[in-house]
Amino acid sequence: MTPMNVSRYNLYSEHLIRRYGEKVYKLPVNLPGTCPNRDGKLGTGGCAYCDEQGAGFEALSSDLSIEEQLAQNRVFFQKRYKAKKFIVYFQSFTNTYLPFDQFCANMEKAAQGEDIVGISVSTRPDCINDQYLDFLAGLQDEKKIDISVELGLQTVNYHTLLSVNRAHTLAEFIDAAIRLRSRNLETCAHIILNLPGDEMADAVENAKVLSALGVKYVKIHSLYIVKGTPLGEAYLRSEFEVTPLEEYLDRVVAFLEYLDPASVIQRLVSRGPFNKVLFSNWGISWWQVKQKIESRLEEMDTFQGCRFNYLNGRALR
Ligand code: SF4
Repeated sequence: MTPMNVSRYNLYSEHLIRRYGEKVYKLPVNLPGTCPNRDGKLGTGGCAYCDEQGAGFEALSSDLSIEEQLAQNRVFFQKRYKAKKFIVYFQSFTNTYLPFDQFCANMEKAAQGEDIVGISVSTRPDCINDQYLDFLAGLQDEKKIDISVELGLQTVNYHTLLSVNRAHTLAEFIDAAIRLRSRNLETCAHIILNLPGDEMADAVENAKVLSALGVKYVKIHSLYIVKGTPLGEAYLRSEFEVTPLEEYLDRVVAFLEYLDPASVIQRLVSRGPFNKVLFSNWGISWWQVKQKIESRLEEMDTFQGCRFNYLNGRALR
């Protein structure tokens, strides 16, 4: 039996029930926007793996207002799941890459309603600053909701970050995570455990750095390769090979073993956009990959946090 009794990793759905007393659903909001790594501010090509939808593809049209998107999605979840509590989720592109007033207005709209228990804002580590964070911390206190900021990091290997053209390195992520934590705002980090150039040691270091920074939520992705992206072109030219599935499973297990058991896994496996991928989840469905990870944890009789013993002066123990 694992320390968590229920699962070998800290499941987001169970965390939400513990925190809010019932199931909570995310209401996605899709804003028209761009990204400083696409519009020339930091770069023009975008991250090597990113398609032009800005890494979000399961939401309503951005032509609809925030209020309309929230209303439509709310009705959907209420009818289908009898949902009563929601987290508003600004997913696509870089939702803090807006003039300050506009950003504040968007967040204010999202915070309306007794049934809103939180807001999750997705952005880049280099696209958040004290002004925006102070506003979010004030809104969190005023509305008595939980606000988290999702940061794309993908890997702590700063050589890999350069090679996939992230246009930021590890330092910017560390800076943003520290600023968030100092304001009692939660951080969610996106991690891809098999970017070309990364190996097992990077998977482990990802877990250690996120744990050292007190990152609350993690979304784990396996690499999917989209047509028309620089990574897709390199894949078609056979410039790299995707990590074999068995090795990927080992990396996920090691990542979980080193991760702080208090961190919550918001996503164990990702899904690529169906019609545009050259490679996704080794040709099997996302839930089969999920099952394989869970089976591997079971077979190895291991669990999240079992190697979380390296912080606060290990040599003195
Ligand atoms: S930061 Fe996000 S939206 Fe911008 S190019 Fe990279 S993956 Fe795409």
